[in-house]
Amino acid sequence: MDVRAQFSMILNLEKCIGCHTCSVTCKNMWTNRKGAEYMWWNNVETKPGTGYPKRWEDQEKYKGGWIKTDNGLSLKIGGKLKLLSKIFYNPDQPTVRNYYEPWSYEYEHLFNAADGDYQPTARAISEITGDYIEVKSGPNWDDDLSGSDEYALNDPNLSDEEKKLIKELSTVFMFYLPRLCNHCLNPACVASCPSGAIYKRGEDGIVLVNQEKCKSWRYCISACPYKKVYFNWNNVKSEKCIFCYPRIENGEATICSQSCVGKIRSLGVILYDVDKLTAILTENDTNLVDYIRECILDPKDEDVIRAAKESGISEEWITAAKSSPAYSYVKELGIALPLHPEFRTFPSVFYVPPLSPILPTIDTEDYIPEVDKLRIPIKYLSKIFSAGNEKIIKDVIEKLIVVRKYMRAKMLGDKEKLAEILKNSKLEEDLILKAY
Ligand code: SF4
Ligand code: SF4
Repeated sequence: MDVRAQFSMILNLEKCIGCHTCSVTCKNMWTNRKGAEYMWWNNVETKPGTGYPKRWEDQEKYKGGWIKTDNGLSLKIGGKLKLLSKIFYNPDQPTVRNYYEPWSYEYEHLFNAADGDYQPTARAISEITGDYIEVKSGPNWDDDLSGSDEYALNDPNLSDEEKKLIKELSTVFMFYLPRLCNHCLNPACVASCPSGAIYKRGEDGIVLVNQEKCKSWRYCISACPYKKVYFNWNNVKSEKCIFCYPRIENGEATICSQSCVGKIRSLGVILYDVDKLTAILTENDTNLVDYIRECILDPKDEDVIRAAKESGISEEWITAAKSSPAYSYVKELGIALPLHPEFRTFPSVFYVPPLSPILPTIDTEDYIPEVDKLRIPIKYLSKIFSAGNEKIIKDVIEKLIVVRKYMRAKMLGDKEKLAEILKNSKLEEDLILKAY
C-alpha cells in the first residue's frame, strides 16, 4: 500500500448563506492586484445557474464554445492576451466575457451631480480601463430568488393573488455552491502543463503553479474541468488557489474557512492509497463516488498507520488525519461528496449536499423534510455530486434527515423519540453526533 497525505476541505452546503465573505477575504488576501481583478480563487455560485465562468459545467456540450468576440476590456487586457493567443493558439479556454469585466461605481456622481429632474445614478466604471461600461455579467449573476417561504402564506396583509404567486415560487429551489480549486488527487492541470510548472506537493498534496517556470501556455486553463486556473494578464502567468499554504504552514486555517460566516468549512487531512487510485483511473464504470471512497483510508487502522510511516508520512500528518473529520464525513458516514466526480480528477474538496430549504413551522414534524418531499430534486443533486447516481444522493439525504431528527429530539429532551430514531436508523449514535 502506497499511502499519501492530502490536505482536504469539507463544505456543508446546508449552512451556506451565500454571503460571499469567503470570496472577499480570499480576494483581499491573494488577488487584490493588477492582472487579477477578474479572478476569484474562491467564488460562490447560485445553483441552478450558469456559474463562473459561464457554463463551466457544460464543457462537453459547449466544447470550443466560449465567447470569443470580446470588446472593451479584452482589447485592453488583450494587447498581451491576443498576441499570446496568436503565438500559442489554445482555443478551448474562457475569455473575459465568460468571466466578467470587473467594475466599480462612480459614487462621487451621487453627491456632486447638479440639481435636475432625475435622481443621479452611480454608473459602472471598468476597474481596468476606467471607461463607463454596461454591466452584463458578474461572478454570481444568477443570484437567489428568495421570498418564497410559506410563512408569507399566513400573512393577513397579502392578497390571494400574491399568495398564489408565493405558492408557485415555493416550488422553486436554489442553493449556494462555494467553489475553489479542488487540489485534485489526479490533477488535470498538472498533467497538461508542457513546462512542468504546475506540481502537487508531496507532503500535503497542495497543487501550485511555479511562477518562474510558467511559460504562459495556458493548457492548464483548458484542462481544469472546474475552470479554477486563471491567467494573469499583467504578468502573463497562470495562477490558482494555493490552499493558503503559507497560513497552513503556520498552523492557521485557510482564510475562507476562518472568515466563513456560516462556519460551513472543515479542514483536515485524508490518507489515501495511491496504488488503488491509479488502478481506478482506468475503470470505465460510473460508480465514481464509491471508487473515491475506496481510495480513502482509515487513519486509525494500525495497518494504514504502518504503511503511512513506510511511505514517509510524518507523525504530525498522521495525527492530523486521525483528528480530522474528513474520513468520517467522506467514508465512515458517507455524507460528503466530490463535485462532479465524473470529471475524474478526484477532488480533495468535498460537499455535504443541502437539504431542502426549511419548510413551514418549526414546531411541527414538517420542519424536517422527508426524502420524497424535498424541494431540491434528488436528480438535480445527483448531476452535481454523484455523476447522476441518484441512489447515492438519496442515501446521503436520508442520513442527513436522521441527523436532523435526532438533534431536534435531543434538543427537546424527547427520550422516546431519540430511542425510536436510533432503532430505525442505519446510523449509530456516535456517527450521528460526528455528523452534527
Ligand atoms: Fe488542477 Fe483544476 Fe483540480 Fe485545481 S481543480 S487541482 S486547478 S484540475
Ligand atoms: Fe457560504 Fe461561508 Fe462563503 Fe458565506 S463565507 S458564502 S456562508 S462559504
